[in-house]
Amino acid sequence: MGYVDEVIELVIKKNPAEPEFHQAVKEVLESLRPVVDANEEKFRREALLERIVEPDRQIKFRVPWVDDKGQVQVNTGYRVQFNNSIGPYKGGLRLHPSVNLGIIKFLGFEQIFKNSLTGLPIGGGKGGSDFDPKGKSDREVLAFCTSFITELYKYIGADVDVPAGDIGTGAREIGYMFGQFKKIKGTYEGVLTGKGLTYGGSLVRTEATGYGLLYLTEEMLKCNGLDIAGKTVVVSGSGNVAIYAIQKAHQLGAKVVTASDSNGWVYDADGIDVETLKEIKEVKRARLTEYVKYRPKAEYHEGRGVWNVKCDIALPCATQNELLLEDAKVLVENGCIAVAEGANMPTTLDATEYLLANGVLFAPGKAANAGGVATSALEMSQNSERLSWTFEEVDAKLKQIMVNIFHNMSNAAERYNAKGNYVVGANIAGFEKVATAMIAQGIW
Ligand code: NDP
Repeated sequence: MGYVDEVIELVIKKNPAEPEFHQAVKEVLESLRPVVDANEEKFRREALLERIVEPDRQIKFRVPWVDDKGQVQVNTGYRVQFNNSIGPYKGGLRLHPSVNLGIIKFLGFEQIFKNSLTGLPIGGGKGGSDFDPKGKSDREVLAFCTSFITELYKYIGADVDVPAGDIGTGAREIGYMFGQFKKIKGTYEGVLTGKGLTYGGSLVRTEATGYGLLYLTEEMLKCNGLDIAGKTVVVSGSGNVAIYAIQKAHQLGAKVVTASDSNGWVYDADGIDVETLKEIKEVKRARLTEYVKYRPKAEYHEGRGVWNVKCDIALPCATQNELLLEDAKVLVENGCIAVAEGANMPTTLDATEYLLANGVLFAPGKAANAGGVATSALEMSQNSERLSWTFEEVDAKLKQIMVNIFHNMSNAAERYNAKGNYVVGANIAGFEKVATAMIAQGIW
């Protein structure tokens, strides 16, 4: 058995009941085979793969809070600090009932390579809780966030670990957490990113993941002789990533015809109206069923279905494992030319393989959605400098980072005889830098 297979087997044995973590490790390690094969003796002696799949530490804690009826509720909090060989741990906090240790580990593991790919000095981490902010009052969200940070503050800091938003964690939650950190610690530091603009947040952070996804998609198409203008796009999700992906796609001359949430999806032949979506999701925090009230010509459908709509480009922007093999087959049949992942691991392994085998350009999430964390790192830089850059400055830096990421992964794929396979390219490019840093820093 080869080194890669041995380590995958070890991960499954040591981390039972964590299927998403197994999936992420398998996807990354399998695409690293060419690099591992070329350095097997050295990597084995260093136990490099065994070290990289084991988090530096994982913190799990009780989060008690009082609801509006006076009842004490208890959630579980997590922070997995995966690898800080190239910079302080950096990664979001997910608040969703589906959160468990395996999900946080998969996200933290992916984050190592994504952060490395940005070219910025940030390590990999992820956290969150099984708390569901949906349907909670502002006071309940405040109570949860206060309790969550009252424990987590011990483990984070501007030079240690800098959490950010993710599913369920937006500017409101980050604000409540920042306030509590400041109160307990007595320091005003850039310990969280995604902050409000009046207290250290960066312009473009809200838009960054969606905009970055489109900058990378545009570059990928351009380098393959294609133009994004005039293309029909399907998007899943209607949260932070989806909204700004749709906005930028329209700015670049494409037309996005779908959006979805966990209950259903909308089809709008005239193009999804971003202002309506923002009103429903960001202001009212309502369900997507509302969309047709504003746009009567659009259609609302219960359940899944976005990938059945004929398109040139598909952008999964909701959650993990939302684009399955059967969906990939329909996309190919309908002539889809490109899939770029706005969400983390939205495409299953067999669906990814099918898309690649059928010549669909495929940009994996760790490259395509890295704009969010990259701009978070730019927020960290601004906080350290105690300066704020203009929208145009940050947006230009973001675009350059996404273009560089595309070329880094494309070049890495070519170097290892996998031209056009950006999954292999992204993993290799992200891994090489981290591996070099780990080896240089001795055994830890
Ligand atoms: P939001 O919470 O803003 O939006 C998530 C969207 O996905 C909502 O439309 C939500 O619907 C839908 N969704 C969530 N869970 C499920 C589910 N189990 N099944 C179907 N739909 C679901 O999150 P973000 O937009 O911030 O994040 C989306 C994805 O992008 C995640 O994978 C996240 O990890 C990734 N990502 C986010 C970054 C960021 O900067 N925000 C950066 C990099 C990656 P509903 O409202 O019904 O729950």
